[in-house]
Amino acid sequence: SMNLAEEILSRTAVDPERPAITLLDERGDERETWTRGRLKERSRWWQETFRAVARAGDRIVLCPERSPELAALHLGALACGAVVVPLNPSLSAAERHAVTESAAPALIVTGTDVEQHRASAASPHQIPESTALLLFTSGTTGKPKSVPLTHDNLLANLGALADLWQRSEHDRLLHMLPAHHFHGLVLALYGSLLAGSHIVLMPRFDARGALDAIARYTINVVMGVPTMYARMIEAAREDDDLSGLRLAVSGSAPLGASLWNRFHERFGVPLIERYGLTETGIVTSNPPGAPRGGSVGRPLRDTRVVIDTGGRRLEAAPGRRTPRGEICVSGPAVSAGYGNDPAATAAAYRDGLFHTGDLGYFDEDGYLWIDGRIKELIIVGGSNVVPGEVAAALEDVEGVAEIAVIGIPHEDLGETVAALVVPATAGAGDPQPARTAATGAARRLQGVLEARAEERLAAYKRPRRYAFVREIPRNAMGKIDVAACKHLLQRT
Ligand code: AMP
Repeated sequence: SMNLAEEILSRTAVDPERPAITLLDERGDERETWTRGRLKERSRWWQETFRAVARAGDRIVLCPERSPELAALHLGALACGAVVVPLNPSLSAAERHAVTESAAPALIVTGTDVEQHRASAASPHQIPESTALLLFTSGTTGKPKSVPLTHDNLLANLGALADLWQRSEHDRLLHMLPAHHFHGLVLALYGSLLAGSHIVLMPRFDARGALDAIARYTINVVMGVPTMYARMIEAAREDDDLSGLRLAVSGSAPLGASLWNRFHERFGVPLIERYGLTETGIVTSNPPGAPRGGSVGRPLRDTRVVIDTGGRRLEAAPGRRTPRGEICVSGPAVSAGYGNDPAATAAAYRDGLFHTGDLGYFDEDGYLWIDGRIKELIIVGGSNVVPGEVAAALEDVEGVAEIAVIGIPHEDLGETVAALVVPATAGAGDPQPARTAATGAARRLQGVLEARAEERLAAYKRPRRYAFVREIPRNAMGKIDVAACKHLLQRT
């Protein structure tokens, strides 16, 4: 079967003088450009370096700087048959440790530092032989779950999208996403290289810088999360002109019809929203020629999407709107199951379908609309936060009797994290704001909680709001009543 890196490297052999990756500096000036030839040469160099110390199937953790070398590291590792484990550079030491424990890598590359970890450690879990990527996703339990994606999974997804989005070597993409998620890594980095496109890499996203770079470097393709597009509207000046963008893709969090309309009104560019998960790859996309604002589009070729209403499983049917239910998926891009969690695999993969935990329905024309979530996920500006993971990091802080973590709407980020805390001193009773809220004791406790969050959790996962209450509202099953928690938060 095919190797993704070899497919990409065979492309770089054609017209080796063409630019492959340009790195910008913080001011938006060009810092360096690698041609296809240079990328190929460096990728082969890494391939040989890795081959000397890692066998096929060994995991290699990659946490490189944002530079053209990042692409060479990925391609070199993939070409030598290793399993790439991209690490989120913003994780805390404890979070990093959990990932490296689970992946048992032979090598860890941080910056351009290659550290031999546990040479050729046996894989502690079952992953397919042709695994290319092991991506960590928090899942719904808070325990990091590893998702193995094979070369075939990735090539199937990228192939379908390249045709639908007509990606080609005529494209120049502005890369403004993190490079450790499916979105920024697979779609924006691997997908662009596979199509032969030129990548212009921002050192980090900022809206003003993105608008300037699009004009200055004649960018015609961007991919982003909704918060990025909202910030671009805010940062826009009268003379900003995005008419050169032929494709602007949004995903990772709900975009919504209102933001779609605002972006369209301001720039004349119809955002192309697509939907997917780490476990499934991209599942649906709007067709560039006929996008619908607020919908996530139609299933990709070879991808089966059904709505599970509890009793029935319904596919899109012309002329008929389906009832609302859980979105379930099967297809060539879907991972075979979690690498380290058989119980979670059994729960999510039933009857040959992956159950996404997202709710939605198909309209009369086969467009999918997402309008809710069963799983307890909070999406902060495109980054996923699992309430249980935040609660677990904070619940044993001295002075805390109980804690509930929920997502609350946020103007800029879509959602943000809030914590309801029952102080150890609070008496039981009605779920009312605790009297301690007004006291210095509550303020001190909040300070301790904030310090703990800073120590244990990546910045985007830390609660932005704390409320001190007498009791956490729960339903008859003893589960946290999220709606009642939100209501309570408004009163504190
Ligand atoms: P991840 O595995 O990090 O890609 O997160 C997957 C989850 O992000 C999905 O299950 C959805 O809840 C959410 N998501 C991704 N894309 C969209 C979208 N276009 N609209 C709404 N939710 C989305």
